[in-house]
Amino acid sequence: MVELHGGIGGVTCLDCGMHHSRASIQQTLEAENPALFSVTAETGADGDAHLERHDLDSFCIPACPNCGGLLKPAVVFFGESVPRERVEAASHALDAADAVLVVGSSLMVYSGYRFCVWAQKQGKPVVVINLGRTRADPMLALKIATPCAETLTALAGRMALD
Ligand SMILES: [Zn+2]
Repeated sequence: MVELHGGIGGVTCLDCGMHHSRASIQQTLEAENPALFSVTAETGADGDAHLERHDLDSFCIPACPNCGGLLKPAVVFFGESVPRERVEAASHALDAADAVLVVGSSLMVYSGYRFCVWAQKQGKPVVVINLGRTRADPMLALKIATPCAETLTALAGRMALD
């Protein structure tokens, strides 16, 4: 598995480049923002949560434990590029694979969609687990329009039985 656009389980410092686990930063975030414990917010599929503006007026942003710099989730945001080594790792994985499984992406940005195009050129089936339309819908061998976590859990359970 290659997390092409990174994952929210990690946090990267924009100043020193050090990677931290989200869990370790979460401890600081909670300690510095006790008022957030009384706020309720529904989590979106992308990990975002919508909060009312007044909930954020006193929000303290945790700083990098290493250098005090600015932290961001270890994900590729719009306008950023996927790191070259990650693209190469995904490309090598595609070459060695029999098929491609895309989980939880609309594939609307080319950085992910290109792997579906490359798989199609190699005659490899592409399967997507995603709620909603994807850019690759016309080329899919199978589309499973269900919540990802639920589907992967069920799939893992079935694989363990075999
Ligand atoms: Zn830092």
